[in-house]
Amino acid sequence: MKITDIRMIRLLGPRNHCLGGVERKLSKVIVRVDTDAGVYGLGEVDDFMGVRQGVDYMREYFRDRDPFTVNAIVSEMLYGTHPPHPDESRRGDMPDCNAVNFCSPTATPWGPVIWAASGVATALCDLVGKALNTPAYHLLGGNFRDRAKVYLDRSSPNDIVDLSAWKKMASDTVKSGFTQMKFDIDFMATECVEDVWGRSLTLRQINRIVERLGAVREVVGPDFEICVDCHMQYNAPDAIRVSNALAHLNLLWLEDPTPITNPDSCAEVRQRSPIAICVGEMFSAEQFRLFIHHKACDILHPDILFCGGMHELQRIANYAELNHLPVAFHGNGGALATIAAANVAVTCRNFLGLEYHMIETPWVGDMVRRDVPLFCDGYVPLSDAPGLGVELNREVCARYLAPGESLFD
Ligand SMILES: [Mg+2]
Repeated sequence: MKITDIRMIRLLGPRNHCLGGVERKLSKVIVRVDTDAGVYGLGEVDDFMGVRQGVDYMREYFRDRDPFTVNAIVSEMLYGTHPPHPDESRRGDMPDCNAVNFCSPTATPWGPVIWAASGVATALCDLVGKALNTPAYHLLGGNFRDRAKVYLDRSSPNDIVDLSAWKKMASDTVKSGFTQMKFDIDFMATECVEDVWGRSLTLRQINRIVERLGAVREVVGPDFEICVDCHMQYNAPDAIRVSNALAHLNLLWLEDPTPITNPDSCAEVRQRSPIAICVGEMFSAEQFRLFIHHKACDILHPDILFCGGMHELQRIANYAELNHLPVAFHGNGGALATIAAANVAVTCRNFLGLEYHMIETPWVGDMVRRDVPLFCDGYVPLSDAPGLGVELNREVCARYLAPGESLFD
């Protein structure tokens, strides 16, 4: 079997997510890998800078390759090969750029390169599962459990100064059946921010955050898991300060407290934080190794859209387990990426929870369909259909096609 094409469709629709009530558009990109056997696979990439160009590159570079060699395709994309190179490796010019295989053809295992490779790798897993008539989680060693726990990203209510809005958001989340949720430190008290460029949290801001999260804890009770995210915004002393101020609320984790490129500052926060430190939503396996080595994290937080796809996600989780650390999966994706991540989550013994951002944006959850619901009682249930067990919801995709796009035929 050979890869004949790698195509994309781009969807564009409203993004209904809290974030202080800002109305935004959301773009989603679905990838399809086609073969000469007629079997195809679906994946999802995030529409960040350079990602669509990365998928275009992979279409040219990996055409005619064996779709069963998923790890080799991802590894060659990230690290290249050395001379004399695999026989099937592409040489010479491609239509729009240079194909350079003596180092990484794309020169880096971070950024748009790995983000593009992540979606193609996931589509390949779907394809291989379909070709072998078995669910994707069987390709990863089989499942420990038959559903993956979901945690909802709540960010903040639209009216952040109104405590009743926080309480309503908390009670709505409990009623919807989910048992874990996350709020964004940087969005929780924006009216107290004095300098948008600073890396500091004011005491006034910290006090409002404590009050608002306290209201949430009061509603959900002592057993509901709550996390907070710092979005890599703060200096180390203020991250430690806010962690101590929130300690009495018994949070599950404090996420990405400091800018991500420095494991030493994160290790300093971790050493003095009463809340467990969770890092790595944009990391590849190598960066997780670095942070574990520097004792800079308690919980690993890879995202299937950014870490290299399903096999890489499992590899990171297994590495965490060897270090006796739990793993949660960051989730910036729609239904397709979420289902793919759940297929990995069930194969990882140390899995804590899988994030979903888009509960208020139904079209993102409906862009694919399968034989079981996307969510059931706060979990993604498994399907035993082949591959990822999904097909495009052509009606929804047609409705939200971005200008100039057309559906896969
Ligand atoms: Mg985050």
